[in-house]
Amino acid sequence: MSVARKNKTPAPKMADPLGALAESLWRPMGVEGVYGRTGAYEAIVEKLAAFISQARDPHAEIMRFPPVMSRRDLEKNGYLKSFPNLLGCVCALHGSEADIRAAAGRAEQGDDWTQALSSADLVLTPAACYPIYPIAAQRGPAPRGGYCFDVAADCFRHEPSQDIDRLQSFRMREYVCIGSADEVSAFRERWIERAKGMTETLGLPYSIAPASDPFFGRTGQMMAVAQIQQALKFELLIPVRAEDSPTACMSFNYHRDHFGVTWGLRDYTGDVAHTGCIAFGMDRLAVALFRTHGIDPQTWPAKVKEALSL
Ligand code: AMP
Ligand code: ZN
Repeated sequence: MSVARKNKTPAPKMADPLGALAESLWRPMGVEGVYGRTGAYEAIVEKLAAFISQARDPHAEIMRFPPVMSRRDLEKNGYLKSFPNLLGCVCALHGSEADIRAAAGRAEQGDDWTQALSSADLVLTPAACYPIYPIAAQRGPAPRGGYCFDVAADCFRHEPSQDIDRLQSFRMREYVCIGSADEVSAFRERWIERAKGMTETLGLPYSIAPASDPFFGRTGQMMAVAQIQQALKFELLIPVRAEDSPTACMSFNYHRDHFGVTWGLRDYTGDVAHTGCIAFGMDRLAVALFRTHGIDPQTWPAKVKEALSL
């Protein structure tokens, strides 16, 4: 219909040569890095999720988290020290009916109604594993071998961008280990090897490299250097946007005793527990599949189709 065409929001400009790919997989929603997802794209995200589930440790406990979490818990984790620039906080109109009506009425006058907002008890979940640590802490010491969780959440990071691999709202799946230092190290080593095999099965070119989190500010740069020196983070990189600057599609993180101290987690000996997590960026992995194998999954290599049950 001509009316619909007239009102159509222009598609955001994606970095070439992937503009066409993004335009066929997603629909613009008027904000950079936030997209509606087509059925064809979602079908692959679902198949990918099932593929990752097949590799799950048998004793892992499954938890799924909402896109919001406790603001107090995130503050306690030290997120505001490390990544204040990436945080999204939920705000709401509080007060009496009259207060709320007056604030909402300002929008109708074309005034800035957002001045009347104040923060709620919620932040937007920035990583799927954050909510699991206080839950695990309530259960007492981890058993020998450690706790293992399979978690997922819709995550938010305030990093608006037109790049196909940098979203503000994206899906993250994680396997989390809570236990002794040795148990967590072994878990991470095992998963780096398993993830390599999974990526090969999916026919995706990759490399593994030491990495650091994007800590905020100048002190943050020092934290990043220390993180690399201590080999606390590795990433699995796949060419998505550019061959010479591959995209981190999975990360393998060792937090040492950071969450153990914060939440009073204990390992089977009663010592402060260490933690580690393996994160799968579901949207980056799905885009990597389309980028590598083409827009039509029916034309993907037989091995890949079989692995994803396509
Ligand atoms: P991180 O906690 O930074 O290691 O993130 C875990 C995984 O989430 C990364 O390996 C990415 O695959 C994915 N991820 C992180 N940030 C973004 C983003 N802005 N857009 C899409 N995926 C992301
Ligand atoms: Zn994590």
